[in-house]
Amino acid sequence: MPQGGFGDLFELAHESILVRDMDGRLLSWNAASTQLYGWSEQDALGRSLDALFGDGANEIAPELLANGRWDGEIRRRNAAGADLVVEIRQSLRRGPDGQPVGIVEIGRDITAKLDAERALKAAERRYTNLFQAMAASFWELDFTPVGTMLRRLRKSGVDDYSQYFRDHPAFIREMMRVTRIVDVNDATVRLFAGGDRSLLTGSVEPYWPEAAGEVYAASVVAAVSGAPSYSTETTLRRADGSEFQALFTAAFPSESVDQGALLIGVIDISERKRAQAAERRLQDEFAHSARISMLGELTASIAHEVNQPLAAIATNGSASLRWLSRSPPDTDRCAVLTERIVADAQRAADIIGRIRGMASNQPTAVEALSINALVRETAIFLQPELAAHDVMLTVATAAGLEPVRGDRTQLQQVFANLLINGAQAMSQARCAERRLVVRTGMNLAGHVQVTVEDTGPGLAPEHLERLFESFFTTKASGMGMGLAICRSIVERHGGGVTAGNGPQGGAVFTIVLPVDEAA
Ligand code: ADP
Repeated sequence: MPQGGFGDLFELAHESILVRDMDGRLLSWNAASTQLYGWSEQDALGRSLDALFGDGANEIAPELLANGRWDGEIRRRNAAGADLVVEIRQSLRRGPDGQPVGIVEIGRDITAKLDAERALKAAERRYTNLFQAMAASFWELDFTPVGTMLRRLRKSGVDDYSQYFRDHPAFIREMMRVTRIVDVNDATVRLFAGGDRSLLTGSVEPYWPEAAGEVYAASVVAAVSGAPSYSTETTLRRADGSEFQALFTAAFPSESVDQGALLIGVIDISERKRAQAAERRLQDEFAHSARISMLGELTASIAHEVNQPLAAIATNGSASLRWLSRSPPDTDRCAVLTERIVADAQRAADIIGRIRGMASNQPTAVEALSINALVRETAIFLQPELAAHDVMLTVATAAGLEPVRGDRTQLQQVFANLLINGAQAMSQARCAERRLVVRTGMNLAGHVQVTVEDTGPGLAPEHLERLFESFFTTKASGMGMGLAICRSIVERHGGGVTAGNGPQGGAVFTIVLPVDEAA
């Protein structure tokens, strides 16, 4: 313990204070040193720093010798063997002859502070990595000026922001103009600025097209009303002026809102939108082709319906001929019958009109088609139905297939029919294994060929001849029109369809279509 009046101070100090000689031997050691390093004063005094803190602890910084003072951070081991980081200030003591005799050192444990700083840095790094690496576009915005605008608005007596924004679109624009871009990630630069980061400075206003104003307003309302986040689909604009469909999400953690900071995320969903539109188109086409195929079914009931007015017309016609041949002719009765004839003829015409209406949007668009794509589309579309029959479908498409020329909807209907027939045959026969394989390829004659195989009971040899005839069916509720329609469609495309059995016994339908010469 140092002598004199400093003794109390020395012991009361919160910081470790120790004195050592030039060899590192400890001459003084206060209570705070014991607290910091774990050794008692008795343990420490007379021993060297090396012995306590590990090799190298005796070393003296050249700066200390040169200037008489040194401070910095040192790593030391404590009595329990744990590593500490200590912030040290050292001062050199000299003897009467001016020679250094010892060092006084004050130390403060900063391990926890460093750990906290490191954790903070790691969190920041993780955040930055996340911010940068996310595939989605992220924006950090400063909307402090918007806060000011809103407070001013409130002071002037406006308490319904939504209503005010609706009535003042220019105010929304102004809010956008004062919302500053603080930082954006790489995905944002790619999505919005074609890779040029310098375009993404200043205000967010250029990226919000007129139509998206409502969304911006709604997100401001959500933020000020304390909602944790706001998300919606909207149209946004790129720096080059092109617009795209986006999923926009703004998060409002209260701490950042208080500081005027806002994090928004944008995902480009135009691809998804396009895919959805394509899917809808496909479904429409199928719905339509289903209607067309229903025509077969309708033919029977139409014949029946039309037959009735026709028979009535014939009956009434011959009756009126009889009344006319009387003398004098009974024109009154003839008039009544003729009215009935007109009404019946009208009824028949109405029925025909209805049918024509159903078939009228029959697609006739002939185009170059990829059979592979067409088969795959059909497979995707039928997937739920096949799954319901426990049928596993494999589509094996050959590479380098030439396009064919034809009507997409009609050809899809052919494949859909064959697949459904196969699925029905397997499920009716309660087959344990239910597999459908569609294979595309080119045959030796240079035509596009598609085979549809199943693992069902196959086709009875005596039926092979008649399969493609209209109304040939072995099903209780069958129409017998499916294969007939398939054949007529394929033949209209200049191709042919044949049926047979595979080596395993299942049915195999083979369709051959000529390649598109124009392509
Ligand atoms: P429908 O399905 O209304 O009977 P189709 O013309 O589609 O009319 O088929 C005619 C008949 O051909 C079916 O009733 C069935 O007997 C037979 N058939 C068609 N496809 C298969 C198949 N994959 N396996 C076994 N039989 C089939």
